Amino acid sequence: MQDITSQNARFMKMTTKHRTPVLIIGGGPAGYTAAIYAARANLKPTVVTGPQPGGQLTITTDVENYPGFAETIQGPWLMEQMQKQAENVGTEIIYDTINEVDFSKRPFVCTGDQNTYIADTVIISTGAQAKWLGAPGEEKYLGFGISGCATCDGFFFKNKEVAVIGGGNTAVEEAIYLTHHASKVTLIHRRDELRAEKMLQKQLFDNPKIEVVWDHVAEEFLGTDEPTKLTGVRLKNTKTGEETTRDFQGIFVAIGHLPKTDIFKDHLDTDAEGYILAQPGTTQTSIPGVFAAGDVQDKIFRQAVTAAGQGCMAALEADKFIGAEGLHAEDEKAVANS
Ligand code: FAD
Ligand code: NAP
Repeated sequence: MQDITSQNARFMKMTTKHRTPVLIIGGGPAGYTAAIYAARANLKPTVVTGPQPGGQLTITTDVENYPGFAETIQGPWLMEQMQKQAENVGTEIIYDTINEVDFSKRPFVCTGDQNTYIADTVIISTGAQAKWLGAPGEEKYLGFGISGCATCDGFFFKNKEVAVIGGGNTAVEEAIYLTHHASKVTLIHRRDELRAEKMLQKQLFDNPKIEVVWDHVAEEFLGTDEPTKLTGVRLKNTKTGEETTRDFQGIFVAIGHLPKTDIFKDHLDTDAEGYILAQPGTTQTSIPGVFAAGDVQDKIFRQAVTAAGQGCMAALEADKFIGAEGLHAEDEKAVANS
């Protein structure tokens, strides 16, 4: 039975071909913004949304820093609007996931679970994912006291006691940032030395609102059920094994991010952590005609608005590329015949 199903899946994969001048891989803020600009440039883009249509903002609630909205808006609503806007100006949106790419010749070929996509240009906007500890309670209180983004959620912890877990640049920057809102910030790190740059460390140690707890890991996140709310964390000393409980109203997990680039690594230049490398000031990757926008290439800012900005850049660059290569007329014929 299983064999028949997988044979059918393979058969479907081999038969459905989709031709597009601009294939946008990923349906988050970067992908949908790229789509809006590409569609308005009459490039008839296709967005393949992947496993999380709408991207990371669909797993959050309040968004207060995306410009254009005087009142607090909800992440999933914002992403619905972006999708509708992209569709209204002429984007085709397909719920599929790309699992293989061939950038060795043009047109590029990207293979999904359902379709094979043939494209003159590809915009990669597959995002990144925060790393989580996997400790009990972490998933339960995510969004109810636990966060992976101080810039996004710090504002909600005004005059509250919060902790940051991690010892890299992100953790230290988040701890410093949180002192603008919280009454006290505790940085919890698993070693007795930080990985963060010395300059950031100095700012951290000089800040009277920050306490550093060395050599501790989170064993369990604690909280209440009704309402679902984080109240603290059970910590373990990595040197003595001693366990203690600390009360916090917010905990920011800042132990790194993973860009979603596994399928591109063998085809494009990436840095040591897997982020796609783009030429400075552009979204152009190491392959002409392939562009990367948003969290998949930006490990510093990681905001919806910066991802959207890069999506715009990628679409404008794709348009220029198609024009320079004289592909506009060819595309019109190919799309009409497909
Ligand atoms: P993403 O939003 O990650 O979208 C990636 C897209 O790629 C998804 O649609 C996914 O399904 C798709 N994809 C992945 N793999 C494939 C594949 N193989 N094939 C096809 N598609 C694929 N930022 C703010 O500015 N303000 C906030 O308040 C805020 N709050 C946040 C709260 C949380 C809990 C989180 C996790 C993040 C928050 N951020 C916030 C950060 C913001 O969400 C990201 O910076 C932004 O979503 C990045 O956009 P992106 O388009 O680059 O990628
Ligand atoms: P990172 O440098 O990988 O640091 C991750 C931190 O989390 C490390 O201190 C690590 O501890 C800790 N950690 C990892 N797994 C853990 C676990 N399971 N339990 C407890 N702690 C754990 O990640 P990042 O800070 O997000 O930075 C990512 C990249 O972006 C880096 O290259 C960084 O320089 C860059 N960045 C730069 C800036 C800037 O230039 N201003 C700002 C932010 C990020 P150990 O130290 O013990 O390994």
